[in-house]
Parts: sequence; C-alpha cells; structure tokens
Amino acid sequence: MRAVDIIINKRDGLELSTREIQFFVEGYTRGEIPDYQAAAWAMAVLLKGMNARETADLTLAMANSGEILDLSGIVPIAVDKHSTGGVGDKTTLVVEPAVAACGLPVGKMSGRGLGFSGGTLDKIESIPGYRVDLTKEEFLDQLGRVGIVLTGQSGDLAPADGKLYALRDVTGTVQSIPLIASSVMSKKIAAGAQAIVLDVKVGLGAFMTNLEEARQLAELMVSIGQSSGRKVVALLSDMNQPLGSAVGNALELIEAIETLHGGGPADFRAHCIEAGGHLLVLGGKAADLTTGKTMITRTLVDGSAWEMFRKLVIAQKGDVSFVDDPAKLVHAAITEIAVAPADGYILEIHARKVGEAAITLGAGRAKKGDAIDPAVGILVHAKVGDRLLKGQPIFTIYANNPALVEPVRDNLMRAVTWSQEPVQPLPLFYGIVQ
Ligand code: URA
Repeated sequence: MRAVDIIINKRDGLELSTREIQFFVEGYTRGEIPDYQAAAWAMAVLLKGMNARETADLTLAMANSGEILDLSGIVPIAVDKHSTGGVGDKTTLVVEPAVAACGLPVGKMSGRGLGFSGGTLDKIESIPGYRVDLTKEEFLDQLGRVGIVLTGQSGDLAPADGKLYALRDVTGTVQSIPLIASSVMSKKIAAGAQAIVLDVKVGLGAFMTNLEEARQLAELMVSIGQSSGRKVVALLSDMNQPLGSAVGNALELIEAIETLHGGGPADFRAHCIEAGGHLLVLGGKAADLTTGKTMITRTLVDGSAWEMFRKLVIAQKGDVSFVDDPAKLVHAAITEIAVAPADGYILEIHARKVGEAAITLGAGRAKKGDAIDPAVGILVHAKVGDRLLKGQPIFTIYANNPALVEPVRDNLMRAVTWSQEPVQPLPLFYGIVQ
C-alpha cells in the first residue's frame, strides 16, 4: 500500500477501505508519511468528504494511534465536554470547575487555537507556570486526587489527531465535517470519559456556518460516541457573534475568572450554566436539566467553582497569585477604544471577523508552531439587538504593535452591521442532539 494511492483514491472521490485509513493514520503517526502527503490527503477529504463508515474508521484509527485511558478504576464516572471551536469561547474554564465542584470528576484534554477560533490551552497558559503537558500517570493521579484536570493532548493519546490538528490549522483543511468529527471524537474516546457534552457551534464564527451542517456534525459525533459505548449529548449553540465579551487569551481568562466569581457577561454565564447542567444530568448528579442548572448556578454564587479552579491551577503548578489577582497577568502596551459612528441598533457582529482581528493582533497562529501573544485581543462591548448612541464604545483593542491598531480597528468596524430598526437578540442555543 502506498500513501500516494490513498490520496489519489480520495481525490477521485472513492470510498477508502478500513485498511487504507488505518495504514494512512499509522504511517503518519510514525512519521513515515510526511506532512505534505497528510496535507494533500486532508484537502482531498475536505473536498470529497467521507461517509459515516469511513469517519468512524478514521476516528478509531486516530484513537488507537495511542493509548486509550480507562478511567473506571480511578473514578466512578468521569465526564468531559468539547467545543467544536468558536470566538470568545472560554466555556471550559468555567464549566469544568463548576461541574467538578458538584462532585463530578472532569478530566479534559484541550486543544490550541485552530484557524480563527481560540483554544483553551492557549488561554490557560496565560497563567505563568501552568503545565499543559501532564503525562498519562499524572492525568490519572490528579483526576482521582483532585477531581479536575485540564491539560493538553498528551503525546500518548490520539497522537495522530495531535499531528493532524496542527497541520489542518495551517493548510486550510479545518472546515470538514468528517475531519472535525473524527478529531473531536478520537480525543474523547482516548481520554476515557464515559459521558460527554459536545458544544457544536454554528454561525459566522464557527466552522459550521449553517444549522443543517452543524446538526449533521452533531449527529455524526453522537453516533460515533454511542457506538463506542459513551453517553453523548450535543448542543447546537450560536456562534454568529463572539461569546461573552473577551476575545484573546489572557482577556478571556480574566472574563472566565469574573464569571467564576459570580459575574461575567450574561450570555456567557447562561451558556456555561446550560452546558454544565447537561453534564450533571449525563453524569448522574442531577435528575433533570433544571436541577443541573440550579446546581451549577449555585457553584458560581457560593465560590465553590472558583475554589475548584484554584485547586486546578495549583495542581498543575500554575502560579495561583496570577488568578487571585488578574491585574498581575500580562497586559498589552496599547489600549484603543472604537466607538459607534452613529446612533443605531446592532444587527450583526461578525464573529469570524472579530476572531481574525484578534489573530492579526497576535492572539493566534499564522503557521504551525508560531508563538502567540497572550496579552492581545479585543473586548466587544455590545451584543446583537443592543442600541448604541453615537460615540459609545463598541470595541476595546489591546495591542502590542502600534502599526496594527488602525487596520484592526477598521476591520472590526466593518464586522458590525447597523440597523435603524429594533433588532431581536440572537438565541444562545438552536437545539440539542442526543
Ligand atoms: N475541535 C477539534 O478538536 N478538532 C477539530 O477538528 C475542530 C475543532
């Protein structure tokens, strides 16, 4: 078997056999198939698609490229959540400690930014010292001992996805239903959680821009999860405008900390409560969603979610004084406020354009392995449906390169569409697949 023939088969729209998929994934993981062939193959998959059988095979091949954790001997039931990627999505930083504070262990392996979407690892690494490279033994030990883990994808777990994910980020091959479904589910299967909530983003700032595609992705992931014996629920959530206010790594961490203290933007907080509520139901801690949401809300009000977040930071060797006093976190040198040019209602704040503006400032990567700047980003001060008066702030730009401020401000202003008529706010969720 040769990698080039597998690429050609997919390029020509043929269905790949289980053996071809395994051969490609195993060869790429071992470094025998180079990045350029994997990039060509990923592009062929993006353009020609994969059926459900091929996607399930790809998922299992990637999950089996490393170890598959068995958490059953460590905790009675462990839960996990995963977002398909969006702008301003710092949900994990709040939901994970809130759920763990309700007595349900959460062991999570998160990713880095991908394209215009942010990544939890990049955000949490704004905390000096915080380790995102736990070994399997450390992961298991911390899950049993502390009840919460938030680390990077250990080299031992789904290494094929780890390599392919970074390659797709810089080769225009993210937006593919089979590649996203297999990427997400291979990690989830390998990480061993028995119950998983998937947050499938849909809209202008998501990889799935329409509801039909998002539903297809959700159904595919739920069925892959169920066929490997996991309980899975997928939420279809809005990503037309950024979630919350902050977009950019340290800025998002600060917003998560505010939310863990019972504050934070209303949309972000409500989103976290909903996702956390579902996790509690799936993990058997709450009888129904209303009870689950009440329990999560309580942890945000009584400080227990915050205490759990501190435990997480301490367990992973982060300097907790930086989260106790977020003013100590890195700050951008330049702060620039962009204001409404006239009175009006906000019809659209194009999430992808805001995400791209943050990347331009240095919050994300242009090519594999690029360093990011944790300090830069954007605060978005309004939501779709809000009425602003001329001169009211709409964005604050945090930059370290003065030459970028003006072009970024112009791009951000172009991301906003105004209306003279009242506009309905956007929903937070469009549905659920289970
Ligand atoms: N999240 C993932 O883990 N993988 C993708 O491909 C996209 C989002």
